[in-house]
Amino acid sequence: MKYTCTRNRMESVEAAQAIAQGISASGGLFVPEQLPQITYADLCRMQNMSYVELAEEILGRFLTDFTADEIRECAEAAYSPEKFSGGHPAPLVMLQNGEITQYALELWHGPTCAFKDMALQILPHLLVKSLAKTNPGKTAVILVATSGDTGKAALEGFKDVDGTRVLVFYPQDGVSPMQKRQMVTQEGANVGVCAIEGNFDDAQTAVKGIFTDASMQAVLAQHQMMFSSANSINWGRLLPQIVYYFSAYCQLMNSGEIDYEGEKVNFVVPTGNFGNILAGYYAMKMGLPVNRLICASNENNVLTDFIRTGTYNRCRPFHTTISPSMDILVSSNLERLLYDMTNGDAEKVSGWMRQLSETGSYTVDAETLAKIQSVFYADFCDDTATMQTVKKMKETENYLSDPHSAVAFEVYHRYHAVSGDQTPTVVVSTASPYKFSASVLTALGSELYAQDGVNDEFEQVYQLSALTGTQVPQPIQALAGKPVRFTDVTAVADMRKAVLRLAGIE
Ligand SMILES: *Cc1c(COP(=O)(O)O)cnc(C)c1O
Repeated sequence: MKYTCTRNRMESVEAAQAIAQGISASGGLFVPEQLPQITYADLCRMQNMSYVELAEEILGRFLTDFTADEIRECAEAAYSPEKFSGGHPAPLVMLQNGEITQYALELWHGPTCAFKDMALQILPHLLVKSLAKTNPGKTAVILVATSGDTGKAALEGFKDVDGTRVLVFYPQDGVSPMQKRQMVTQEGANVGVCAIEGNFDDAQTAVKGIFTDASMQAVLAQHQMMFSSANSINWGRLLPQIVYYFSAYCQLMNSGEIDYEGEKVNFVVPTGNFGNILAGYYAMKMGLPVNRLICASNENNVLTDFIRTGTYNRCRPFHTTISPSMDILVSSNLERLLYDMTNGDAEKVSGWMRQLSETGSYTVDAETLAKIQSVFYADFCDDTATMQTVKKMKETENYLSDPHSAVAFEVYHRYHAVSGDQTPTVVVSTASPYKFSASVLTALGSELYAQDGVNDEFEQVYQLSALTGTQVPQPIQALAGKPVRFTDVTAVADMRKAVLRLAGIE
């Protein structure tokens, strides 16, 4: 299997090259030239597989330049049951509410309690093997600018993985107290964490600048190092996400909810950068029986408008919400969907992306829009509705949802009401409520708790546990006793020095 580029069909590379390189030379994204097909017989076989085996099966069809042993090593390192509380990386939970049955696909039982683990636990292993094939002997230096979840997931994923170093920059005042605590206590010999005097955009822009700086690259090369990216546009982050869509379907087959060949399901996905839901789309194109993919957004509803009208317009106010990992106005992975929906028309896609960067908007043609709408449905809800959903679900279904997942539940309830669609539906749940204890406590109407900063972050966690009778996830509990390892703060102008210091060069 070869990979081409969304902006240039002449490119054709192996998977290892696509993963090692991250982004293509033309600035486009790598996409598989065709999608492997899964039959009903395959699904029946997959039904009895462990998650590790399922990951091997799916990844094996895409990573044809990897040996079966290499793929097994990656899958076992990432998804071994002891890494996930409860043992299953993607358990499906049935929720009954009157005549509506829905399923929550919980993707947050990993080491950082957010769904980013599903990709970032395996990416380091895929990357190390890809580099060994394409740039043998080099150490990969991963630079990450984070607004919270990605930084911690990358640190946990790359921690003590031979042949890698991971350096994370976060805005000094731009992450939650718990997110900061997760990062500054990070263990591992090859990790570095540094706060910057600036916001997330400053961090992101500076990291991109360093990444492409020829003199920095030269210094790294002298030390047998090279920059690499754990960014969500890397194919090595998208591919592992396809696996849990198959896992969800297999679990529905096992439970008897799916009882005939080809029976379809809906997936509802809380969406930011469009990576998670795109993986669901690829699963569908591979043959997974999907009726609708429902794209759920918060008040940053640029995707809702796009899927409804065909116009993508990022020129709009940016809202800071209680589902911060979805506060995003440029959804990078949408480019891959456009490529597929235009049957690989790289020229058209390039044109739209050029318009987006020059004017902030573009409009797709009627035919492309109709194709998108035949698969995708989109809606959004604001913070008030999100909070109400958290509260209502606790009361009616005794289910504790984090704010990101609550956006998806609310959008599904609205969709169900207007469409009457009776298709079995899986809501993809992306974070543990304990990562967002303050918002969840407020939603539940807890008077005990006040604003951020009033209490220590662990106080909120214990309060949430006491109020709901649910258990604090072990990785969050464990943070309480961990020493702070990283206290550095740097000016944006000094980030190059910080990179060299953290990489152990100077
Ligand atoms: C990253 C993230 C999302 C958004 O996923 P995308 O793949 O960017 O669409 C949703 N919820 C949580 C908790 C996240 O961390």
